[in-house]
Amino acid sequence: MQEKTTGLYSVKMRASREGQHISGAEKIVPARRVAAIASQLAERALSHPKGDPDFINIKVEAQPRQIRRVKALSVTTHETRTPEEGLSLAAELLAGDGITRIGEIMNRFSESHSMRGAMLLDADTLERLEPDPERGVRATYMDDASSLEKGTARGKNHYAEAIVLATKVQNAPGIVAEICVSDDPDYVTGYVASKRLGYRRITVLKKKGDPRGGRIFLYRGQRERVAETIEFLERVPVLVEDVPILSAERAGDRMLSLASDLEKRESQGLSRRCRTLCSPTGPTAVVDGRELVVLSSNDYLDLARDERVTSAAARAAREWGAGSGGSRLTTGTQPPHAQLERDLAEFKGTEAAIVYATGYMANVGAITALVGKGDAILSDGLNHASIIDACRLSGADVFIYRHLDMDDLDRKLSMCREHRRVLAVSDGVFSMDGDILDLPRFLEITRRHDAFSMVDEAHATGVMGRTGRGLAEHFGCDHPDISMGTLSKALGSEGGFVCGSRLLIDYLRNFSRPFIFSTAPGAPAVAAASAAIKALESEPQRVERLRENVATFLKELAGRGISAASESAIVPVVVGDERAAVAASAALEKDGFLVPAIRYPTVSRGSARLRFALSSAHTSEQLRAAAEAAALAVREVTR
Ligand SMILES: *Cc1c(COP(=O)(O)O)cnc(C)c1O
Repeated sequence: MQEKTTGLYSVKMRASREGQHISGAEKIVPARRVAAIASQLAERALSHPKGDPDFINIKVEAQPRQIRRVKALSVTTHETRTPEEGLSLAAELLAGDGITRIGEIMNRFSESHSMRGAMLLDADTLERLEPDPERGVRATYMDDASSLEKGTARGKNHYAEAIVLATKVQNAPGIVAEICVSDDPDYVTGYVASKRLGYRRITVLKKKGDPRGGRIFLYRGQRERVAETIEFLERVPVLVEDVPILSAERAGDRMLSLASDLEKRESQGLSRRCRTLCSPTGPTAVVDGRELVVLSSNDYLDLARDERVTSAAARAAREWGAGSGGSRLTTGTQPPHAQLERDLAEFKGTEAAIVYATGYMANVGAITALVGKGDAILSDGLNHASIIDACRLSGADVFIYRHLDMDDLDRKLSMCREHRRVLAVSDGVFSMDGDILDLPRFLEITRRHDAFSMVDEAHATGVMGRTGRGLAEHFGCDHPDISMGTLSKALGSEGGFVCGSRLLIDYLRNFSRPFIFSTAPGAPAVAAASAAIKALESEPQRVERLRENVATFLKELAGRGISAASESAIVPVVVGDERAAVAASAALEKDGFLVPAIRYPTVSRGSARLRFALSSAHTSEQLRAAAEAAALAVREVTR
């Protein structure tokens, strides 16, 4: 469709610094909007994240030509996980347009890299067709038709701009398809487009870190008519209608903001990924086809793969099903659940116990049930994230006392006389450093202030005390009011629990939202935990063996000039800088030891560390070799 264009202007902006392109944009608008658009584009040029331009060119041209209006290509997004997957999808899609040599075409991006224009290739012979290969072809004079009505340049919207461009290109005579990959090494999403396919966004189309990218237009037709195609791309103004603006804009901005947060994390050495361990958790594991010594599992007593434990899980799965099918108060309680609660109470020596699906939920469940608005929580400065989250969620006033500083706790408790209920909560064994709470002191102070005492024994259960019953056994003292723990560490299964008085447990069953509103853990995990408790009770020497291993490892480290201390199964070696810690962890992995670098936000900035977690099943040979490798790695990265 053609229309009279009286009064339409193209407004183009280009910004550069020392001759390097920074940003560019163009609009087609009516005369009365020209000034406003020009100023918006100037602002955009001046606020580009790539930096301040030293040259901004704003060009305003009347459009005497007939303006073509075309419908936007339809947009489809394909989620791909790897560049290989993306590439084979692109090949499959373009095969329908008779384009077969996709691998070769993609390789041509090394030629177009850093070229601002697109490459124009013969779709079949892959010869380059542009008269000036240095410059390429620049598709320009185009806009989203809706900006004519709205008359604004809005924020930048790469997504809508890409659709406008791709639509113009696919309307050029002789063009059969386009392939576009960003030249930003961190941006792996690209697209393929053709009249037939529409605009096919492919979420992963190149390897992260690959700087090659650009646009390739594929032409099929007579050579004599290439000039006509280029003339259309470079001169004929086109307005694109029905660009999926709103959703695209929102999706674009939303995703952009995620990407920029992620990139920031990455540049600080703080980004994370999941690695896959191809074996049951234990002292060694197969990672990427190599057997590594695992010095980071919480399966302290090597019970997760214990035959008694795994067959209890298998039996329970067959007898009671894989999942429980309901929350505990509706249809999710089965005999293994009741049995485990009895086993836990007996193991800890409390009146009763309640089981949650995870330790995280046990903390959130207990704390939010016990205290709320008008109440106070005293929380150690280095408590586990699940306690921190629980405190926030509770709505109570939260007072953080200095890490393990009982005098500070005492002082802060004195300031809470006006609160209705007061709860003091602490990790028993601190998860990052393995240091321990002085439980007798904690109990004396909390009782004196008539505050509830709560201790998280996630890393104490199965580890502290001669038979692994936790801190109360270790110190030979009473239990706190609320003794929380997990089934997912030394007990080798998964789930969380609270042990305490019958009254407390009855209360939690009625007021604890994660208990009430989440499905009960499945019988296999529950039965496995009961079997693990039984195994631990019959073999307390596992706990002894773990303690010997820690002593051995500390001695081996000290012998190599690394001072570390621990009363539990966790041995921290502080490195400091985040990237240095990551490098040390990588070096250890090369040597065959899996030791994570623990970084912000898990620990405070600048106190990144290697966190060794030992198992009763490590051999002294493995520990000696690990100490040797650790000493080398730390020396290397802190030089
Ligand atoms: C692991 C851990 C939890 C959470 O237990 P999960 O069973 O893993 O959810 C809670 N508190 C501490 C101190 C922990 O280390």
